[in-house]
Amino acid sequence: MELNLEEALDAPVELSQRLDVPMERLERPELVSLSPVTFQGVLRHLEPGFVLSGRLGFGGQAICARCLGPVPFTREADVSWVFSPAYRRSEGEEVELKADDLDVVYYEDYTIPFDPLVEEQLQLEIPLKPLCRPDCKGLCPRCGADRNAVACACAPEGDARLEALRALLPKTS
Ligand SMILES: [Zn+2]
Ligand SMILES: [Zn+2]
Repeated sequence: MELNLEEALDAPVELSQRLDVPMERLERPELVSLSPVTFQGVLRHLEPGFVLSGRLGFGGQAICARCLGPVPFTREADVSWVFSPAYRRSEGEEVELKADDLDVVYYEDYTIPFDPLVEEQLQLEIPLKPLCRPDCKGLCPRCGADRNAVACACAPEGDARLEALRALLPKTS
């Protein structure tokens, strides 16, 4: 979808959107599914440009980084963008819009593709190394068993140096 900045020239415009973002576009192999993304916000005219602020909501399912099991997630995030006319950039825009926490988008005309902006935010919000639970034991590196479900018979990978050291210590029992 596209934002039409012109609509907010005279008065703030409330936006309520539901976007389908194709998962392939995000190129995140750990992602299994992604719900439609909702956006609620207000577009305001703020000389010399516009400001859009609001809240993104979405959810989906990812793969646990340790055991490859499903990890459902939902996220809500406050987002805001500053739209500045392109000529401001060529003028060597100084201090005012340089704040690091603001995303400045320069525009040539009043129509702005909204999807790429949302996709950028999703990249930041989708968990990077999701875990099915904080103490997920993962898969056994030797036999591949899910160690959350079964205790396989493989010896735990010990630190060889530590084992050698332990052998040198007097037996306590
Ligand atoms: Zn897991
Ligand atoms: Zn094993």
